[in-house]
Amino acid sequence: FRYGEASEVIVPTPNGDVYFGENHPVVLVAGPCSVENEAMIIETARRVKAAGAKFLRGGAFKPRTSPYAFQGHGESALQLLDAARKATGLGIITEVMDTADLAAISSVADIIQVGARNMQNFSLLKKVGAQNKPVLLKRGLSATIDEWLMSAEYILAAGNPNVIFCERGIRTCDDKYTRNVLDLSAIPVLRQLTHLPIMVDPSHATGKSEYVAPMAKAAIAAGADSLMIEVHPNPAKALSDGPQSLTPDSFDKLVKEISVFGKAV
Ligand code: PEP
Ligand code: MN
Repeated sequence: FRYGEASEVIVPTPNGDVYFGENHPVVLVAGPCSVENEAMIIETARRVKAAGAKFLRGGAFKPRTSPYAFQGHGESALQLLDAARKATGLGIITEVMDTADLAAISSVADIIQVGARNMQNFSLLKKVGAQNKPVLLKRGLSATIDEWLMSAEYILAAGNPNVIFCERGIRTCDDKYTRNVLDLSAIPVLRQLTHLPIMVDPSHATGKSEYVAPMAKAAIAAGADSLMIEVHPNPAKALSDGPQSLTPDSFDKLVKEISVFGKAV
């Protein structure tokens, strides 16, 4: 069991320091699954910033199930994220899949994402633990809470105290209606077991845009410190995860709806 007060993870961004934690407002992270081109990433960044997001998410290196699916634009996408950062002042969150890309990613990212599929890639965890950017650690596809906590320990033990957990849905019984099952109970369980901040990603949890808002609200009600929402200017044309992506307008509407909860965004 955790002892002591909640820790905050303080992330410097061009727009100022952003505080993640139990005693701070909900931090909104939004953006497309993949960075597709300059126009779409800049437009998305401007729109999510206007709605209240503090971070832009966007994949450069994508962990796709099929090797024939779009793999992300890699290093050139990092440059586009940097352009969006300069244009808006938003912090950047993007995923690292390979230790070979870590230096290039940390030159652009304000928070480094370890994706669900790499939650137990221990050599990657050691490497992100040995650098000083905060790490967003997504829950593995079928990871227990203890396995997830131990993966965070790898990062902490390597010297990096700035870890944020992200619940993104787990596999239970096969269900054609949702992509995964959002484990809302992970929020109060983690609150009891760790002092570190808790983010929820209802986009990858549900896989369907119409279910994102209800589960985002449920996550806030259960005590989440932050939300990660996929937003695309034209979801029907997205190169990845279009069906679960909100439009900028629907993201703006969601932010207004969740602002009525006690822990204001
Ligand atoms: C993502 O955030 O785009 C992603 C691939 O998420 P996850 O690792 O949770 O599947
Ligand atoms: Mn995605």
